[in-house]
Amino acid sequence: MQDFALHRPTSAAAAVETCRGCDEGRYLAGGQSLIPMMKLDLALPSDLVSLAGIAELSGIRREGETLTIGAAETHAAVAESAEVAGAIPALAGLAARIGDAQVRNRGTLGGSIAHADPAADYPAALLALGAAIVTDRREIEAESFFAGPYETALEAGELIRAARFPIPEAAAYAKFPQPASKFALVGVFLARTAEGVRVAVTGAATTVFRADAIEQALERSFEASALDGLEIPPDGLTDNLDASAEYRAHLIGAMTRRALTAI
Ligand SMILES: Cc1cc2nc3c(=O)[nH]c(=O)nc-3n(C[C@H](O)[C@H](O)[C@H](O)COP(=O)(O)OP(=O)(O)OC[C@H]3O[C@@H](n4cnc5c(N)ncnc54)[C@H](O)[C@@H]3O)c2cc1C
Repeated sequence: MQDFALHRPTSAAAAVETCRGCDEGRYLAGGQSLIPMMKLDLALPSDLVSLAGIAELSGIRREGETLTIGAAETHAAVAESAEVAGAIPALAGLAARIGDAQVRNRGTLGGSIAHADPAADYPAALLALGAAIVTDRREIEAESFFAGPYETALEAGELIRAARFPIPEAAAYAKFPQPASKFALVGVFLARTAEGVRVAVTGAATTVFRADAIEQALERSFEASALDGLEIPPDGLTDNLDASAEYRAHLIGAMTRRALTAI
């Protein structure tokens, strides 16, 4: 691991300013993705800007029909939050099944969103719920946030402050986990709102995506039988040692059915 300088700002503005002044500055949240990458020399930051002491990045609050979760909230905090359980129980359940206890106690919502692992769980929730990512300089719709594997719409030094979730009428998440890491081989998040049904799939391709054909089928009838006869083609899906593209296509259908039974 390359040497680096560690900074501990106490405000979001100071964190952004500190990062701006660094050669290769990176924010450090829970370190559950960044530290392993640094150990493998896949990330070589000159400076780490810790977010641990910035109170304004924390907090979970419901205002009307919107749930806002601070970037620094850990997966465990989201899983255990009465506010989240009351507004979007599927999101609390998703957080409760991320990784293991250590990952959930250290890893954060903001870190997961910024890291944009193609098999991460939160991106499916953000996309299906039509969430917005609030940064130090703008709000980015989830629809235009995830650009590819480990690629997002964030600019250099842009800091995620929070994610803002519209509260749906109903939602559910079903994941078929990779047994060792618990990352999604395939995860399907379903959300039904007054505007319609949205279905987002993670783990199956190079980035999270909406499953248009499933959405259209569920718009006609919001029950598992709507999927009868629906072919999910394996084209473009990830094909690797963990699972073939054909198996992932099968899992998309199976996880959608499982999510529907949970609603
Ligand atoms: C063994 C293991 C199992 C896991 N299993 C799962 C799983 O089942 N499902 C799942 O979804 N994830 C899983 N993860 C990943 C986990 O969710 C991480 O917590 C997450 O990917 C990164 O969050 P972090 O807070 O640790 O971020 P860090 O590792 O600190 O940072 C990750 C990246 O995000 C950037 N960043 C962090 N915070 C911000 C911010 N506020 N604004 C802008 N950029 C920021 C950092 O600079 C870095 O580039 C697993 C990880 C491990 C080690």
